[in-house]
Amino acid sequence: MAYNSEAFKKIMDDYNAKRTSAIDAAEKRLHEISEKCPEVKMIDTVLAGTGMAIMEAISQGREGLEERLERVRKRNEELQQHRADCLALLGYDPNYTQPKFECEKCKDTGYDGARLCECFKRELTLETCRRSGLGRLVDMQTFESFSLEYYEYDRDVYENMSLAYEVCKNYAEKFSSESENLMLIGSTGLGKTHLSTAIAGKVIARGFDVCYDTATNVFSAFENEKFGKQNSKFSTPTERYFDCDLLIIDDLGTEPVTQFTISFLYNLINTRSMNRKPILMNTNLSLADMQKKYGDRIASRLFGESIILKFMGKDIRLQKIGIT
Ligand SMILES: [Zn+2]
Repeated sequence: MAYNSEAFKKIMDDYNAKRTSAIDAAEKRLHEISEKCPEVKMIDTVLAGTGMAIMEAISQGREGLEERLERVRKRNEELQQHRADCLALLGYDPNYTQPKFECEKCKDTGYDGARLCECFKRELTLETCRRSGLGRLVDMQTFESFSLEYYEYDRDVYENMSLAYEVCKNYAEKFSSESENLMLIGSTGLGKTHLSTAIAGKVIARGFDVCYDTATNVFSAFENEKFGKQNSKFSTPTERYFDCDLLIIDDLGTEPVTQFTISFLYNLINTRSMNRKPILMNTNLSLADMQKKYGDRIASRLFGESIILKFMGKDIRLQKIGIT
C-alpha cells in the first residue's frame, strides 16, 4: 500500500506546524504565569530534574533505595500540588501551561507508537481525495448512495446491475496490486461514474493512492507535456497517471483520438500492467466501437486483461425527471 508521497509530506508538514504552534503557545502561557508567580518556574526547574534525582538515589546503593525513591515521588507530588495551587490562586486551570494538542493520543506527531495515528490516516485520506481529482464527489457518490431501484422495472436488468454493483463493491474492498483492470461499459446515465467514484472513495479510504480523471484531461495532459503547453489549465503531471496505485479514467472514448493519443494510451496500459498497477475505465463505447477507435492492439490488451462489466437499463438522470 502506498500513500501518495506528496499528500503524506503535506500532512506531516501540517502536523509539525500545528505541534510547534501548540508548544509555542504553551511556552507563552508559561511565561505569562512566571511573570505573575516566579515560583511556578522554580517548581518546573526542580520537576525537570526528577530523572537526575532518581539516578542519584540509585547511585547511593541498594540500602535505603526504596525510601529515597519514595521521597522523590512524594516531593514531586507536593510540588505539583503546590504548582496547581499557585495557578488556582491566579485564577487559572492547573493545565493552563500544558500544550493543547488537537489529538491527545499522538500529541500531533501523527504517530501512535510506531504506527500512524488514526487522526493522521483520516487527514491523509482527505488530502488524497483532494488530490485524486474527485473533490467532493467522493462523499456523494458512494456504494451506500447507489440505488438499484432505477433498474427494478426489468428483472434481467435488475439482476445484471445487482451483480455489477456487487463486483464493484468487492473490487474496492479487496483492491490490491494483484487486482485486474476493471472496465465498465454501457450508455450514458447508467451509474458507471457513480460506481467508479464509489470504488475510488473506498480504495482511498483503505490507504491506496488513487488518481481519477476524465479521458479528455488525461490525453490533454500528455499532449501538453509533449508539446510544451505549460500554461494550459491541464497541468496535471502525467507521472501521476503512471505512479498511482489505481488509475481511474472516466468517459473513455469522448476524447478526440489521434495516433499520438493512441500510442500514449498503449504506453500507459502497458507500463501500468508491467508494474502491476490496475486501471479502471468506464466508457460509452461498445467493444466493437473501441476496437475501431483505438485499434486491435489496445482493444485486445484491454479486453484480455480486464474484468468487463456491461451496464444495462434506462438513463437514471432521465428517469429522475420522469422522461423515460
Ligand atoms: Zn493523532
